[in-house]
Amino acid sequence: MNFCVKCGRDCAESLEGMCVSCWLDGRKLSTMPHHVDLKVCANCGEFCFNERWYGMKVEDAVAKAAQSAIRIIEGAEVVDGDILVSKKDPFVYEVTLQSVLDIMGYVTTDTASVIVRIKKGVCKPCSRKLGSYYTSILQIRAGSKDLSPELRNEVLTAVEKSVAKQAENNKQLFITKTELVTGGVDVYLSSISLGKSLMKQLGETYCAETKESPKLVGQTADGQDMYRLTYLVRLPEYHVGDVVISGGRYCKLLRISSYGGRALDLFDFREKAVRKADIPSLKLYEKAGNLKEATVISRSGREIQIMHPDNYSAVDLKVPEGYEAPDTVHVVPIDDVLYLVP
Ligand SMILES: [Zn+2]
Ligand SMILES: [Zn+2]
Repeated sequence: MNFCVKCGRDCAESLEGMCVSCWLDGRKLSTMPHHVDLKVCANCGEFCFNERWYGMKVEDAVAKAAQSAIRIIEGAEVVDGDILVSKKDPFVYEVTLQSVLDIMGYVTTDTASVIVRIKKGVCKPCSRKLGSYYTSILQIRAGSKDLSPELRNEVLTAVEKSVAKQAENNKQLFITKTELVTGGVDVYLSSISLGKSLMKQLGETYCAETKESPKLVGQTADGQDMYRLTYLVRLPEYHVGDVVISGGRYCKLLRISSYGGRALDLFDFREKAVRKADIPSLKLYEKAGNLKEATVISRSGREIQIMHPDNYSAVDLKVPEGYEAPDTVHVVPIDDVLYLVP
């Protein structure tokens, strides 16, 4: 059995020769600074902890900032706690932390408060975004003519989706800006690898011609050459849904990629593979968007009767087996004869 040097009582525990209550007397177990500053990005609303940015609710960020500022007396261990966040104004919070502490088996509580001040700043990705930062440009062009608005929107949607997906795990990836230019559209990107991956993706999806060209733009602070990359994607004239001529046959293009494609013959409705080697020789006959619409008058087995879109005469069309004709169908004239484009 020990005895306390201060009060003289017998005691089971002894801290620096004192019983626990004498040792605790007058000691502050948990201390807080008067205030701590919490940086928030004025642009995206993320909070900064140790140079890294996190998206979280303001109350959680304030609580975390307070918790990281608390100092617990040596020898004590926090075993539980409670946290009270009270908003003074949108940028000032008072946080009270109640800590349950274990000091050599003796459990006690202590409270400490701190003012958390929210300070506006700008995180690195946002400052780059706001500063029009970019390291690569994805140039999307059409084969010979101008890029149609439909195809442009389709490609841009695919680009945006892909960037959003890649940015889920990396905030440094973003589109700085999109610029319409003669012959197509330029997409400015925050990263070189992002530009490269998009070029590859579009090249495969559209069986597009691709080209990469670096441009020296200066030197980094430590003397390394700094490049910007331009990734060109030249989309072929034809596209899925268009009527193309493949090996002398008129076909609806069903699928296309850099590995090959599939096409539906409009004369016999047979589906066939387009070999990779034959893709460059495909010829555009009619864009999907320019196909004519015709009203269906009647249906009977392998034939339907439609109204000719130009002269309103009744025309019989062959249809594929099992085809259920909607009220209007797409047709294409080939040598003055109409064909169904199912
Ligand atoms: Zn004592
Ligand atoms: Zn930000």
